[in-house]
Amino acid sequence: MTSLIDRYGRVARDLRISVTDRCDLRCSYCMPEDGLDWLPPEQQLSFAEILQLTKVLVGLGITSVRLTGGEPLMRPHLSELVSGLSDLGLEDLSLTTNGTTLARHAQSLAEAGLNRVNISLDSLDAHRFAEITRRDVLCKVLDGITAAQQAGLQPVKVNCVMIAGTNEDEVLAFVQFARRTDCDVRFIENMPLGAGTTWSSQHVLSSAEILERIDASYPLLGLERGAEPAASYTFADGSPGRIGVISSVTEPFCAQCDRLRLTSDGFLRTCLFAHTETDLRTPLRSGATEEELAEMIRCAVALKGPGHAIGQPEFEQPVRLMSRIGG
Ligand code: SAM
Ligand code: SF4
Repeated sequence: MTSLIDRYGRVARDLRISVTDRCDLRCSYCMPEDGLDWLPPEQQLSFAEILQLTKVLVGLGITSVRLTGGEPLMRPHLSELVSGLSDLGLEDLSLTTNGTTLARHAQSLAEAGLNRVNISLDSLDAHRFAEITRRDVLCKVLDGITAAQQAGLQPVKVNCVMIAGTNEDEVLAFVQFARRTDCDVRFIENMPLGAGTTWSSQHVLSSAEILERIDASYPLLGLERGAEPAASYTFADGSPGRIGVISSVTEPFCAQCDRLRLTSDGFLRTCLFAHTETDLRTPLRSGATEEELAEMIRCAVALKGPGHAIGQPEFEQPVRLMSRIGG
């Protein structure tokens, strides 16, 4: 099988597919409060088109797929896409969701072949959750986590973006949540990808600081690290649950990056922070053959940059917002 290798020797194996740019939340670090137009429907890839492109990518060595958005559960009939993807023989098929409607969908997604879910949750306090997401729906997300576990979408990973000065006092509350519910809680460093220019390095709580705080109360044992962006830990006292940290800003893992991203309007991105992207929708709709599409993908991957330059003077935020890229 051909591999997708870039000029730094990295092999792409993991594909994030954004199925919509729409979202029912407005997380302050991700989307503006209002005034963001949605993609016109004709620009959005159909399920058949997503499957066609994914098949080509699987032929090029992609082995795991994660569906994302915007909020992927806002795309009607998502289980139909899951079912089509699960027929492609992937090693892993997962979904990143804000969880607000997961209680309704968890069972049908599991039956369609979804392996597991990552659920985003930045506060366990209802008032603060509403401040961060601009919607008062913490209970629904918690119900979604329970439903995912009951449906066997395991391990359930809870993604928590730590924003210095906003939710950092909840580190230990999230650790207790992991221990109580047997979830993997993963703390993500806040990245400059949101609406407006509000990000500053002062809003980043480093993974090192987070681990130090946790270890002082709940000693941790490090687990061997794979290609995943998260460094993972179990509890030394044998408690259920796990902790992970994703240090995208303070300790970038670009040298090990094995990810590609397909946006909901059909553009291939080789990096969250890339300033260029490859239009696959136009050739796909113009009747390009699988081999022609494969060649465009190979060329795009070959040109993947070495990594982001967050914190460096030359860093420029990409024009596409996170909600339009697919995190
Ligand atoms: N709506 C879904 C959700 O929230 O899980 C999927 C899309 S969201 C863009 C994917 C992930 O990106 C979420 O875990 C979210 O917290 C994270 N994210 C969004 N903006 C971010 C930022 N500026 N820095 C770090 N993570 C961010
Ligand atoms: Fe929506 Fe996810 Fe962005 Fe929050 S992080 S606004 S849930 S896309």
